[in-house]
Amino acid sequence: MIKKIAILGSTGSIGKTSLRILQKDSKKFKIILLSANSNYSLINKQIKKYKPVYFIINNRPVFEKIKKKHKKSKIKIYNKFSDFNLKKIKFDVTISAIVGIAGLEPTIKFIPLSRKILLANKETIICGWHIIKHISKKTHSEVVPIDSEHFSIQQLTKNYKDHEIKKIYITASGGPFLNRALRVFKNIKAKDAIKHPNWQMGKKISIDSSNMMNKVLELIEAFKLFPFKENKYEIIVHPQSLIHAIVFFKNGQTKFLYHETDMTIPIANAIYNNQINIEKFIQTKNNFLKNLQSLKFEKIDKKRFPIVTLLPKIIKQDSAPIVLNASNEVFVDSFIKGKITFNSIYSYLRAVFRDRDFGKYAIKKTPSLKDIYIIDKWARKKAEELVKKGI
Ligand code: NAD
Ligand code: MG
Repeated sequence: MIKKIAILGSTGSIGKTSLRILQKDSKKFKIILLSANSNYSLINKQIKKYKPVYFIINNRPVFEKIKKKHKKSKIKIYNKFSDFNLKKIKFDVTISAIVGIAGLEPTIKFIPLSRKILLANKETIICGWHIIKHISKKTHSEVVPIDSEHFSIQQLTKNYKDHEIKKIYITASGGPFLNRALRVFKNIKAKDAIKHPNWQMGKKISIDSSNMMNKVLELIEAFKLFPFKENKYEIIVHPQSLIHAIVFFKNGQTKFLYHETDMTIPIANAIYNNQINIEKFIQTKNNFLKNLQSLKFEKIDKKRFPIVTLLPKIIKQDSAPIVLNASNEVFVDSFIKGKITFNSIYSYLRAVFRDRDFGKYAIKKTPSLKDIYIIDKWARKKAEELVKKGI
């Protein structure tokens, strides 16, 4: 039977990689729905190439332009996920790859509509995992995280309980500034920060990777997805990004998952339940033995990456990660626009955490979707005020 596919965020790095994988088996898969924000030319190309039944375009002017251009075609184009009803469709696989909190509602909407949902959007997991977990249980939808570290942790720990696990390391490449002199950090521009040494990714996640925020978000993401005791999780720097997670078991065994730095590997394995020959999708370098001789690991330098010191304050709070995520989105955007410096992202985050209203928003247990948006809105407003005022 032909499998029905939806991709939320089809024009992004994860979206495009997913489409490339599915295209290799185009007789097996039908792309029913794509969604994107504002990339006019790529949206047009994807309409022509994949002939989806639906395309959701978030940016209003781009939506109007595309709708006009395709007014004679059969494709159904909408501006918002709330503009149409998909109740009758059951997707075999949905890939949730919108960036930021914008992915939360679409992901929640698609869980009951999907047999399996591949979750790339880490901000959604960080802010609303308790909601996703609840709905997916109720609707028997399988959730597979595809962030490489989390895909690895799931593979490594799926038959284990908390009492059998001693430690879980999440690896961090260290990004482009792992060896840069600290005195020049103040001159770092967005164009330097997006140059990740190992991965091709979207802008926001690349900047988050350059100051270790991505790893802070990923540690929270891991703790939500796999609720082993929080003190078992630790970040370790591994500049080659070839090992994605390491798990130490109490029985004396240690397992790690190694794969090349290409998101095709976790995504394709998640789509096909690990039953694939990866050579069908990418040409692997096959240099495992050679690489094994030079794999490096080092403790994280908190002076270089002070953002990691924020973790203990937020890891166990249900809603503090929402504040972290929302304010970070504002600060990353401000950094890209040249309004704040690279170094100051950490100081700005600390200022949000020290705000007298922080406690009011950050300690809420299992916030509802409405609560999440209230907390998110407060944090964004606070972050914007701070950027305007300066610290
Ligand atoms: P990207 O910036 O390349 O793509 C983002 C996608 O989201 C695009 O299709 C864009 O059109 C869409 N989008 C952006 N804003 C939107 C909005 N307001 N409404 C609707 N759609 C919107 O990002 P990416 O690198 O593909 O990352 C996507 C998600 O996956 C992020 O949460 C990221 O942290 C996570 N992730 C990415 C990678 C990677 O290798 N790229 C790895 C692990 C996890
Ligand atoms: Mg990752």
